[in-house]
Amino acid sequence: MGKLLIVGSVAFDAIETPFGKTDKILGGAAPFIGLAASQFDVESAIVSVVGDDFPQKYLDLFAENNIDISAIEVVKGGKTFFWSGKYHNDLNSRDTLETQLNVLADFNPKVPHHFKDAEIVMLGNLNPSVQLSVIEQMEVRPKLIILDTMNFWMDSFLDDLMKVIEKVDVITINDEEARQLSGEYSLVKAAEKIHAMGPKYVVIKKGEHGALLFHNGDVFFAPALPLEEVFDPTGAGDTFAGGFSGYLAKTDDYSFENMKNAVIHGSNLASFNVEKFGTKRLQNLSHEEVFKRLQQFKSLTQFDIKLT
Ligand code: AMP
Repeated sequence: MGKLLIVGSVAFDAIETPFGKTDKILGGAAPFIGLAASQFDVESAIVSVVGDDFPQKYLDLFAENNIDISAIEVVKGGKTFFWSGKYHNDLNSRDTLETQLNVLADFNPKVPHHFKDAEIVMLGNLNPSVQLSVIEQMEVRPKLIILDTMNFWMDSFLDDLMKVIEKVDVITINDEEARQLSGEYSLVKAAEKIHAMGPKYVVIKKGEHGALLFHNGDVFFAPALPLEEVFDPTGAGDTFAGGFSGYLAKTDDYSFENMKNAVIHGSNLASFNVEKFGTKRLQNLSHEEVFKRLQQFKSLTQFDIKLT
């Protein structure tokens, strides 16, 4: 079992979907990643920052899920990162209404000493300069560095982001962001261009249309489980990244074959996350429920065809 170091925003989110509205609930990339990865009982830690407006009960929630919180800095008098978004009726697209970086704007991350040899570093969505600083603080080159980011950082911090992309093994982004980053409409061409920027593995997430994993001219596709109801897609990408990295940390096998399994585990956990607002569903998710849905995934994708 490998150690998993998670970096990412910890936030207050205000979300509007066709089914309802929330005011300032727990959000951010790191909580979704951490809670999803905790399904694999891995040793994990979050590096992030919050203001002193951040409730202790959320920090307790991370700790109860065996996530080391010693590197979540609490800034006295500071305000926690805030994001608000509104989903369109198809739930596949959304508008960001507001992003307040607050304490994230000048955060200096400190990797805890006992995680400087982590096998996996999961760089969740936040400032590329913070992601870079975390890579530089590692004492041993991690076996796998995974990067997730979004258009916000591509729009205004592209130079910094390119420096991070150069150093990672895996990048996970959504289809729209892959097109923006590469300037290619075809996702196959986009993946090729992104490979050339550094990452050996490119994962392109397509929301309810599944995820693609590209490596050296090979491609693997995992569908998303067709769900009766999608309530709130916020954090689906981060949950995917948490399942993907958590499974790899548990199995300590970084081959392309095992990454296919990791993609399935990521998609499986993401399918739960969208059923309730924010992290609610991940907070009450049993191993049994996860296992049962994994079986559904298997029967959804298995077929016996004669190639003659
Ligand atoms: P996802 O739906 O997977 O794209 O992730 C949504 C989460 O990303 C929300 O909980 C937000 O708090 C967080 N988020 C939104 N914008 C940013 C940003 N610019 N940097 C870091 N995290 C962000």
